[in-house]
Amino acid sequence: MTEIRCYGCGAIIQSADTKKPGYVPESALSKEKILCQRCYKLMHYHQKMESHLTKDDFLHVLQTVGEKDCLVVYIVDLFDFNGSLVPGLMRHIGYNDVLVLANKRDILPKSLKEHRLNTWVRRQFKEYGIKPLDVVITSGKKNMNFDEIFDKINEYRHGRDVYVVGITNVGKSTFINRMLKNYSDASNLITTSEFPGTTLDLIKIPLDDHSSLYDTPGIMNEHQYTSVVDEKDLAYIMPQGEVKPMIYQLNDDQSIFFSGLARIDYTKGDKGNFICYFSRNMQIHRTKTEKADELFNRHKQLQVYGPASSMKEMKAYEFTLPEEKRDIVISGLGFICIHAPKGKIKVYVPEGIDVFMRESLI
Ligand code: GDP
Repeated sequence: MTEIRCYGCGAIIQSADTKKPGYVPESALSKEKILCQRCYKLMHYHQKMESHLTKDDFLHVLQTVGEKDCLVVYIVDLFDFNGSLVPGLMRHIGYNDVLVLANKRDILPKSLKEHRLNTWVRRQFKEYGIKPLDVVITSGKKNMNFDEIFDKINEYRHGRDVYVVGITNVGKSTFINRMLKNYSDASNLITTSEFPGTTLDLIKIPLDDHSSLYDTPGIMNEHQYTSVVDEKDLAYIMPQGEVKPMIYQLNDDQSIFFSGLARIDYTKGDKGNFICYFSRNMQIHRTKTEKADELFNRHKQLQVYGPASSMKEMKAYEFTLPEEKRDIVISGLGFICIHAPKGKIKVYVPEGIDVFMRESLI
């Protein structure tokens, strides 16, 4: 019989012993792609864990981590850096050592130098008043820099426990799966342990006889686009691979639409350069501003609408651009690098979605 391996951890699939790696019940053996029970549980674990979590539970988790002498591994999403930060994290874990993993590097253009990205992430953290011990640029999906991460965790933890924190969707479970796949010796390492004072079960991975790595639940950022669309639209807006820059030159009476999900009006300024970084699915349309309302309401062309079905349901944010280029980030959807010195723009998004202006990433 040919050997079948779990597509999560690579263990040889077997259904004889529930306690050994690669176990699946016999009924699941006929599936085309098989995930062992351990990986299956892990993949569905975050969803289950996070759907029961209240904001109070979450604060309690952060406080408890803050009280421990441990290393905090803080995962953020490079594609929506600002939107993926944990609100109030430093208030609670300010005295802990923090190793930042800036994930989903594979979505950003390959040409971007790792060193530049790293410096940019550090500067952004500094603006938020956070000084991590170290920053590693990574991609859980592409297994990028995992040996470095593993070595740094071991170096910085000084024998202490490790707590992994991050909001929903930054890639925590993908990270944990990778760590297990790359570094567990295929013995069944995962255990669960209860988080004090809550009903939360945490995944605990023993690191040595005295210390473990704990996975903590995150909460959703309700101000990210990814939190307000249904599953079909989520697949549409989340880039599946490297984003391709789309370059537009705009005059000050022009607008661009990002499907029916967001719109930018260039209201004042000389000819400006707008480089858009979005999922390759995104339909980007340039139009005259005077025709933009009509285009939005003519539904068919823009394809995907999200929560706002008319311009009345969109909220406008105004920005004046400086001399240098800047990114306008539509949280969870993408960003636009704009060079339009002293230009003025209006960004339309559904109520509740965050829009940021920041130092340009690229
Ligand atoms: P969690 O909610 O923090 O546990 O995040 P998950 O690990 O479930 O990942 C959320 C989504 O991001 C999933 O669709 C993953 O496939 C995807 N994802 C995770 N890591 C990466 C990465 O490095 N690159 C890309 N492109 N997607 C990733």
